Amino acid sequence: MERIVIVGAGFAGFYAARRLERTLGKRDDVSITLVSRDNFLLFTPLLHEVASGELRPEDIVSPIRPALRRIHHVHADVREIDLETRRVRCEAVLVPGAIELVFDKLLIASGSETDFGPLPDVAGSVLTLKTLADAVLLRNAMIACLEESSLERDPASRRALLSIAVVGGGFSGVEATGAINDFMHDAVPLYPEVDPRDVRVVLVELGDALLPELGERLGRYAAQKLTARGVEVHLGTAVKGYEEDLLSTSRGLALRARLVIWTAGVKPGPVIEALRCDKQKGRIVVNENLEVPGWPGVWAVGDCAAVPGRDGELMPATAQHGLREGVHAARNIEASVEGRSQAPFRFQTLGQLAAIGRRTGVANVFGLRFSGLLAWLMWRTVYLVKLPTMLERVRVALGWTLDLLFPRDMEQVVSAHDIDLVARLRKSWRSAAEEKAARREAA
Ligand SMILES: Cc1cc2nc3c(=O)[nH]c(=O)nc-3n(C[C@H](O)[C@H](O)[C@H](O)COP(=O)(O)OP(=O)(O)OC[C@H]3O[C@@H](n4cnc5c(N)ncnc54)[C@H](O)[C@@H]3O)c2cc1C
Repeated sequence: MERIVIVGAGFAGFYAARRLERTLGKRDDVSITLVSRDNFLLFTPLLHEVASGELRPEDIVSPIRPALRRIHHVHADVREIDLETRRVRCEAVLVPGAIELVFDKLLIASGSETDFGPLPDVAGSVLTLKTLADAVLLRNAMIACLEESSLERDPASRRALLSIAVVGGGFSGVEATGAINDFMHDAVPLYPEVDPRDVRVVLVELGDALLPELGERLGRYAAQKLTARGVEVHLGTAVKGYEEDLLSTSRGLALRARLVIWTAGVKPGPVIEALRCDKQKGRIVVNENLEVPGWPGVWAVGDCAAVPGRDGELMPATAQHGLREGVHAARNIEASVEGRSQAPFRFQTLGQLAAIGRRTGVANVFGLRFSGLLAWLMWRTVYLVKLPTMLERVRVALGWTLDLLFPRDMEQVVSAHDIDLVARLRKSWRSAAEEKAARREAA
């Protein structure tokens, strides 16, 4: 039996599993296991639309089980990858319980997590935008701030409740800023007690331009458009700290904001950090076949891998690249199972697109630059086509149509009480499982 284990069901892992299911899934002498802490693929390019209530959470996910029926799915948190003994050690998501997976071939595709750089302490007080829960929480937090501001008598506290800062002017930061700004301005008329002039959306970026990957002109266009719509854009500005609602920066900005969304950078998670193999910028070094040097039968792809590009630069950490790297690694795994030689990974970036709010976009496709409504339409078309299943395409198209015709979703579906309840439930499940384990050990 050839045991193939894939860690992570994001763009890279999911598409690799989909390819392997088609090519090796029917073989009795091959087992394919996909382990991930989510039981779905999350379509991150549309995450900001969930945060702003234009799409519903379920519109942008593909559940793993119906999509990959011949793959064994383990819904668990990977805690350790032991390359020497060829084992992946995991823990179930809700209750403690070790799961050990032995592999002959391993594909590591565990993506990345938010990097707080020199300010790790802010992690506990800011929101991030990486997971589906992040997007749902952000929308609910904005609604909570609006509700509370309508009851707040103190003007300074009211302004703090209506001030939102986004840190990071890359794709996710700019898209989130546009979406947040639209959401707040669409929602505020529903709160007659609130003065719309108190809404303040601020974008802080360390570099001198927004969206540097798209080039200077489109970055400038994005900054001008956001500014024209009331967003305060602070370029060349580093965040110095965020404590008790006060965000301070290198350029003397001191903003009282209840919500800060941190999108400035990503890095591979602790499992990758602990791996005993070469890394570059924290990402696993791979050769041109996407295999980890020194560890035959182990490949790494997506955000967690340092994939060499043509010009000596690393491939960017994007869905566009992760997906293709995943499919290519799957081909090389097939080749290795069948005793054929592997092929090098070659890919040229096709283009990049971003939506910046109010039916406006920026795009650089095959070196051609677009902005405004046309770029926004291109953005929507490309991502609609790129959704993995027809069901999602129909759902998203329907969501966008409803959004054109009706007001966006404004209900607060997850409150602080709900979060508290889940935390308490989890604690009690864990202690029940621990008690059971202790009783079993004693017996
Ligand atoms: C808000 C946002 C917008 C974006 N927009 C775009 C865009 O427009 N275009 C574009 O090309 N890219 C975009 N990206 C980047 C893109 O999402 C990533 O580059 C891509 O998801 C990387 O794919 P991946 O498979 O490597 O990692 P991911 O998609 O992050 O998947 C990693 C998977 O591994 C799982 N996992 C991680 N650690 C563990 C563990 N310890 N145990 C179990 N499971 C684990 C995760 O749950 C997840 O399922 C965006 C990202 C964000 C956050």
